[in-house]
Amino acid sequence: MNSAVKIHPAVDGGLKPAAKAFPGGTLMCGCSQNKVAVAIKGQVAHNHVCGCTKCWKPKGALFSQVAVVPRDNVSVIANGDKLEVVDPKATIQRHACKECGVHMYGRIENKGHPFYGFDFIHTELSKEEGWAPPEFAAFVSSIIESGASPDNMSAVRAKLVELGLPPYDCLSPALMDAIATHTAKAAGVRSN
Ligand SMILES: [Zn+2]
Ligand SMILES: [Zn+2]
Repeated sequence: MNSAVKIHPAVDGGLKPAAKAFPGGTLMCGCSQNKVAVAIKGQVAHNHVCGCTKCWKPKGALFSQVAVVPRDNVSVIANGDKLEVVDPKATIQRHACKECGVHMYGRIENKGHPFYGFDFIHTELSKEEGWAPPEFAAFVSSIIESGASPDNMSAVRAKLVELGLPPYDCLSPALMDAIATHTAKAAGVRSN
């Protein structure tokens, strides 16, 4: 493995397998006390590493790690008064801890959005093991917008391929197809 390139602590040592019948876990913010706690019921889907400038990532990580879960499976169980929405105008309302800045969950309130009904979460905030590992890398080129060197991109993409995370400069083909299908239905081009 090319160890010179670090993607994210959750994947740099290789992907960890998902546990069968995984019951879920509890996400905790980075505060030393009065941590915000968010309970997640069940397994996540579409876990991936993301290079965009909006997703929260641990200090020093090149990518974030982000997955989706049905919004009904997400509940704030402690210190929810410390949460605030990072950017109320953004499509994804990222609920972050005011004190430590960690994003606890992102929610889409626009009912017409293709991903309405799903929340975005960072599974590394939970101590439980067995979360579904990332499947691909999204918005890879966008890490340049956060300060990564354009000259290093082929090494970054090579490392992602080595890890088994196909690099895309938008979302994965499956998710791009899902979005386009939703748009086609909304436009009346498709009925199913
Ligand atoms: Zn906090
Ligand atoms: Zn992102």
